[in-house]
Amino acid sequence: MIIVLAESANEADIRHVVDRIEESGRSAHLSRGVERTIIGVIGPDDPAMQDMFETLRGVESVHRVTKPYHLVSREFHPSGTIVDCGRGVSVGGTELAVMAGPCSIEDERHIVETAIAVKAAGANILRGGAFKPRTSPYAFRGHGERALEFLANAGRESGMPVITEVMSVRDIDAVARSADIIQIGARNMQNFILLDEVGKTHKPVMLKRALSGTIEEWLLAAEYIVAQGNPNVILCERGIRTFETAYRNTFDINAIPLAKSLSHLPVIADPSHGTGKWKLVQPVAMASIAAGADGLMIEVHPNPDHALSDGAQSLTFESFERMLGSVSAIATAVERRVPLHASASTG
Ligand code: PEP
Ligand code: MN
Repeated sequence: MIIVLAESANEADIRHVVDRIEESGRSAHLSRGVERTIIGVIGPDDPAMQDMFETLRGVESVHRVTKPYHLVSREFHPSGTIVDCGRGVSVGGTELAVMAGPCSIEDERHIVETAIAVKAAGANILRGGAFKPRTSPYAFRGHGERALEFLANAGRESGMPVITEVMSVRDIDAVARSADIIQIGARNMQNFILLDEVGKTHKPVMLKRALSGTIEEWLLAAEYIVAQGNPNVILCERGIRTFETAYRNTFDINAIPLAKSLSHLPVIADPSHGTGKWKLVQPVAMASIAAGADGLMIEVHPNPDHALSDGAQSLTFESFERMLGSVSAIATAVERRVPLHASASTG
């Protein structure tokens, strides 16, 4: 249930409504907007309770939520959430988030060199994998904690916040110490214990859609994180598995406007994993921004032919810069903008 308070409601009215919710064995989540406060009631739905809440002072209206998720729904929070990622970068505002970097961190020089190049081209968040989910146990699985250190150094040297994946509850503390944004990979979208635990941190979390995750399952997974008290969730569409074998995944462009209409959380597009082919990354990136995405995650490697993972979908420094030029034109058309080009910001 969602309780919309009247503009005239004062603190005592709000407190009284919250007390009545808690007395009924439910919990209350307050969302204070500029004009009015909305209270999400978490617990069993009961029409008799709706009637009772409607009689309380300061209550304007009470709505039964039609969706199985509450805290992440637009009904609960009509304005879009902006997630502060540190170092002056946020996700969800007019400026797009451009996350770029290698699939996996190969050594310190590799991540620092990539950080400096992608920042110069216009990225504002550095990505790099330390713990890699791989289909084969014999494939390169990342340098783990050592790579977290390299990533943190590259973030400091380039002045960008950094994002990296956590695969296990065991590694949350180490990842949260080094990273500004924690990534939950597609394969862990429904690892509910992991979702609970990242929900107990206050770090921004980027939640990738599962390979066969429905939109509803994805939003319910986000609800797990927010329900633990961490509102800083970013969704990421990274392609789904279909019958098509001509590319690695089928990038679901529909998911972007739909997730944005159902939820207030920002949505990032990952055309690298969404296509698996570097030549498709630029057009799908442009389409994503046209469809309303709040930013991009792009795999970039100094020498994709030699990458230890995902070389076929990785852009070179030059093709990444070209891609951002094309994305910038689309961004202008939809009243967004790509981050300031590093040389433009200093020149
Ligand atoms: C990645 O970002 O490198 C990755 C493994 O992504 P996904 O979980 O979407 O496959
Ligand atoms: Mn990858």
